[in-house]
Amino acid sequence: MKEVTAYLRKKILVLGLAKSGVSAASLLHKLGAFVTVNDKRPVSENPEAQELVEQGIKVICGDHPIELLDEGFELIVKNPGIPYSIPLVKGAMERGIPVITEVELAYQISEAPFIGITGTNGKTTTTTIIYEILREGNKNPLIAGNIGTVASGVAEKASKDDTIVIELSSFQLMGINEFRPRIAILTNIYDAHLDYHGTKKEYMQAKAAIGKAQTEDDYFIFNADQEEVIGLARQSKAIQVPFSTQRVMLDGAYIEDGYMCFRGEKIIELSKVALPGKHNQENILAAIAASKLSGVSNEAIESILTAFTGVKHRLQFVKEINRRRFYNDSKATNILSAAAALRSFNGPTILLAGGLDRGNEFDELIPALQNVKALVTFGETAPKIERAAREAGISIIKRVHNVVDAVPAAYSFSEEGDTILLSPACASWDQYKTFEVRGDMFMEAVHKLK
Ligand code: ADP
Repeated sequence: MKEVTAYLRKKILVLGLAKSGVSAASLLHKLGAFVTVNDKRPVSENPEAQELVEQGIKVICGDHPIELLDEGFELIVKNPGIPYSIPLVKGAMERGIPVITEVELAYQISEAPFIGITGTNGKTTTTTIIYEILREGNKNPLIAGNIGTVASGVAEKASKDDTIVIELSSFQLMGINEFRPRIAILTNIYDAHLDYHGTKKEYMQAKAAIGKAQTEDDYFIFNADQEEVIGLARQSKAIQVPFSTQRVMLDGAYIEDGYMCFRGEKIIELSKVALPGKHNQENILAAIAASKLSGVSNEAIESILTAFTGVKHRLQFVKEINRRRFYNDSKATNILSAAAALRSFNGPTILLAGGLDRGNEFDELIPALQNVKALVTFGETAPKIERAAREAGISIIKRVHNVVDAVPAAYSFSEEGDTILLSPACASWDQYKTFEVRGDMFMEAVHKLK
């Protein structure tokens, strides 16, 4: 950790707990700040708050009282999930109090450089591939964000010979100032989170913020197949490194003559890449660019890409039974993700889908249902997805109680060579606590299948 004196004796409010708030509060306390924590959950139901009280940190729980602002805070570290529209945050901004997220803090204390990955889809996959390749290439990567430890926790332990590979949401990026990744990656932009950001423009600007503090010494890797993304990349001063699955881009990563290439050099034969899916080719090209720019050997890249079959619950290959291949894509909690998954397979597919009803219809799924020969549904949205399937001309449709019952049902419709895919196109919360639980139950049912 760097020697940081900027927070010494500063009055700082940490707003919202969860893992990142706890980490930020303890860190600032160690750095000599006067920390107050404010969280909505009452103390009695709040083990994190109790833990901080034991460390000697002041904790106010149960509500976000606007009067807190009278205490004269000089900085607010806000949990990314808390909207800017709540009165306490609005009031703070009106008074000119800087509001940052924990990632900014992590950057300020870190001796290690950052590779930051953002975009609507593919963040976790791209982050994981880069981490695996850098590890194979002995570049001392540390993973932070969704699938690892929170950023400031990682940054505290990182040395200058490490590299922090971090997945960044638009919510986190709205609270950065000096955060300057040596390599920034923007995978893609689709309509998402408009409930939080209000407009697509605001959402796009939040994503573009990943490059705002970069200089000519840094790199910005971006999806050159999306016009909007190209525009956002240009906002960064960093060296522009495009990737494309459609065009040869000699200044970046691309596909040519059956090879994935980087700046004119063949890196790996496409047929050797283990991870299925056209959309994953984008993630892999971005990862190749980041790895090459980090000085990793082609051997290390190839060794990971020929073995890596996916992050858990993201188009994850589960098992082959009697020549039927089962895939778990439980993370596909919206139509876009399920459509991307379906397009990854050319042959006949049996789709397992359904879940929480958010009020939308599934017409947008219809074009992606071309190879689907049978559909098994469950959960609240079952009737809506069945309607879309009928419109797509699918005749075999069966509704079951849950994802576990869906497995033998799907098998009963299958033939040799088929793909059996759980890609629900819906969140899991109508029946399961998380998409992970749903995916685990699916995989267990596959392994038990007789
Ligand atoms: P994120 O971390 O951004 O949510 P993940 O890597 O966890 O992304 O992938 C989530 C889902 O999004 C996957 O199950 C897949 O269906 C879809 N997906 C992944 N990468 C892409 C991409 N590059 N373009 C479109 N969809 C993608």
